[in-house]
Amino acid sequence: MEAAPAVHAHRTPAARQLNARHRGLGLAGTSLPGAALTSLAVAVGFGPLDAQIQLDTQSPLGPVESHVAAAVAAAGNEHLPLLLRICTQAAPSARGLLEGMVSDVPDGLTPLGGGMPEWYAAPVKVFDNLYYVGQTEYSAWAVTTSEGIIIIDPIFDYSVEAEVTQGLQKLGLNPADIRYVVVSHGHSDHAGGARYLQDEFRARVIVSAPDWELLETTGGDWPKPRRDIEATDGYELRLGDTTLELVATPGHTPGTISTFIPVTDNGTPHTAVLVGGTAFNFMGRGDDARWFREYIASAERLRLLASQRGADVILSNHTRYDGSTVKLPALARRRPGEAHPYVVGPESIWRYLTVAAECARAGLGDN
Ligand SMILES: [Zn+2]
Repeated sequence: MEAAPAVHAHRTPAARQLNARHRGLGLAGTSLPGAALTSLAVAVGFGPLDAQIQLDTQSPLGPVESHVAAAVAAAGNEHLPLLLRICTQAAPSARGLLEGMVSDVPDGLTPLGGGMPEWYAAPVKVFDNLYYVGQTEYSAWAVTTSEGIIIIDPIFDYSVEAEVTQGLQKLGLNPADIRYVVVSHGHSDHAGGARYLQDEFRARVIVSAPDWELLETTGGDWPKPRRDIEATDGYELRLGDTTLELVATPGHTPGTISTFIPVTDNGTPHTAVLVGGTAFNFMGRGDDARWFREYIASAERLRLLASQRGADVILSNHTRYDGSTVKLPALARRRPGEAHPYVVGPESIWRYLTVAAECARAGLGDN
C-alpha cells in the first residue's frame, strides 16, 4: 500500500485506484445479476477497494461518496458516459472520485458534412425489426411489425420530417405505415415531432397521463401533440405480430415511460429495454429529495423487470448514454457471424441501471 497523500482533499489518487480496481474486477463477465451484486458489495462496501480509498483520503467515505463509488464499480468500462453525466450532476461534492475518469465515447454521432445540418444523422437498420431514425445526439427508434410501424420518440419538430419520414423512406419503409408514436416523456427533444406524425399520418400518440399534463402546461414555441392515448404502467401495445410493454418509470419527469421491445437479429430473438429518461433535470426546482426517491425506485424496478424479462439490449433516447455513438458505426462495420454491438447481455443492463440508481442515491445524499 502506498502512503496516504498529505492533502486529504486531493482525491485523484483514490479515483485512479478506484478506476484501476473496478476495471480489474471482472464484472463484465457472463455472471448473472445476482453474482454482479455480490461483487459490488465486496468491492464497494467491505473489500480492499474501500480500504484503499480510506487510506488515500484518510477519512471514511460519506454516504454521497459511497454511492458514487458503487456507481463507478457498476459502470465498468461500458457505462462511463452515463456515470460521468449523472453522477457529476447529482453529487458535485464527489467529483474528486470521478476525476481522471474519461469516457472515449463521443457525445454525438459524427456529422455527415456535405451541407447537411450538424444534427443530421443517417438512418440505420439496427435489428431485423428495429431502426435508428434519430439525430446525432437524440435518438428516435422505429419498430416494424406485420401491421405497421411504431415510432418511439419522434424527437424535435424541426427534424422529424428529415429523420423519421425521409429516414424510413431511405430504409425502404413507408412512413404512411406509422400507426403509433410512443413518447417517452413530455420534453421537446423527444415529443417535438409527435404532432407532425399525428397530423401527417394520423398516427396515434401514446403518452402517460402525467406527461400529457406536462405537455399541456409546457410553454415554448413548439407544436404539442393533441391529447390521445394514455399509457398506464404495464400497458401492452400490440400491433400485428409484435407487442411492446410500456412501464412507468417516473423520475426524469412525473410520467416517464420505458419500453420493452422484442427484436430479432437475423432471426435470433433478443429483448431490448429503452430507458425513457436519464438526467436529473428536476434538480433545483424544489423537492429534489422526492424526485430522487422516485427516480431510484424507478431505476431499481426497471432493473428487476429487465432482469426478469431477460433483456440483453439497452437503448436510450440520447446517443451517448447507450453508446450508440460507438455502436452504430460498429454495426456498419459488422461482418457476418460477428457479435451484435447492441447485444450487451443482462448483467450489463443490471449494472447500467445500478449506475442510474446509485448516482440518484448520491444526489439524495443519505444511506
Ligand atoms: Zn427529458
